[in-house]
Amino acid sequence: MAVMVPRERINKIIEGYDKDKLTIATVCSHSSLQIFDGARKEGFRTLGITVGQRTKFYDAFPLGKPDEFLVVDSYTQLLDRTEELAAKNVILVPHGSFVEYMTPKNFEELALPTFGNRRVLEWESNRDMERAWLESAGLEMPRKIDDPKMIDKPVLVKYDGAKGGRGFFIAKDYPDFKLGIDQTQKFSIQEYVLGTRYYIHYFYSPVRTEGYKLSKGVLEMLSADRRDESNVDEMYKLGAQEELKKLGYYPTFVVTGNIPVVVRESLLPKLLELGEKAIERSLDLFGGMIGPFCLECIVTDDLKIKVFEISSRIVAGTNPFISGSPYSDLLEPGVSTGRRIAQEIKYAKGHNVLNEVLS
Ligand code: AMP
Repeated sequence: MAVMVPRERINKIIEGYDKDKLTIATVCSHSSLQIFDGARKEGFRTLGITVGQRTKFYDAFPLGKPDEFLVVDSYTQLLDRTEELAAKNVILVPHGSFVEYMTPKNFEELALPTFGNRRVLEWESNRDMERAWLESAGLEMPRKIDDPKMIDKPVLVKYDGAKGGRGFFIAKDYPDFKLGIDQTQKFSIQEYVLGTRYYIHYFYSPVRTEGYKLSKGVLEMLSADRRDESNVDEMYKLGAQEELKKLGYYPTFVVTGNIPVVVRESLLPKLLELGEKAIERSLDLFGGMIGPFCLECIVTDDLKIKVFEISSRIVAGTNPFISGSPYSDLLEPGVSTGRRIAQEIKYAKGHNVLNEVLS
């Protein structure tokens, strides 16, 4: 079991910080360009954590380059370097790769203030808990199939912790399932939902009071994307999946890029409600999911929205919107999710409530 850093310890570290010299730090990958660019625009110093990643590419994007780099041998080494980072008044901004590289367990133990509520990790990283959270919030998810023998419609078989959906496969019946399954891995089966995919990027502020109000704080919808997934998104060019299977070609869902999208305007009230429900329930369950999060949705042709996943931090799908999106522009022009995070830290600092947005 991971030992989550106690809130009091984090609050103590924050108390000791020089608030006029805060440094925003993240791992050099994923959405780091917009996190550094946004932090700088809001007047923060920036620090990039790297383990042998190539950093020269930042020279090609100077506004997204951190003020300094911290090179470590491994991400677990961060656990031993917290004092050095605390001396620089560091606030960590987690993103998907940061948590994955460190492992959720180590991330929970890291004795440094991090943006957001780390208690969300256990709810997010366990598929059953995630489903319990979202379904009890009133969100509709793809049906779960417990017994593979009961497969009577197309399903998606997902392996636990599979990076980028590697190995996921579609099965239409039990023989199909048997053909594709790797029994050595933990898996779950869910209904394959036919429709269009939208990945909605929200931001929840527990400390602001103006806007789309929740029982506490406000919810924003900053942008939306669709993932480009290899090879499933281009597979149709080779012919029908059935035929390809016979030749040994299976669809894979490895994210290779992101496409900016907008949803039809009449869906916006519903999407805001979905975000609202996820937040309200998170407040009851574990004190709230703070900051950016993403609902991964499929909209069916009868305009029902099914949510197949939640990401409880900044997602790489926000990267097309470094200078704003059709939605965030209606809140304030030119604000990326990365910059919105920096704004929240600045606002919380100004109102002396940093401990409400950090954990
Ligand atoms: P995930 O790892 O859950 O984000 O899923 C990877 C990809 O599989 C998604 O981006 C979708 O393209 C697809 N996918 C996931 N769940 C479903 C589902 N229930 N029905 C249809 N496609 C899905």
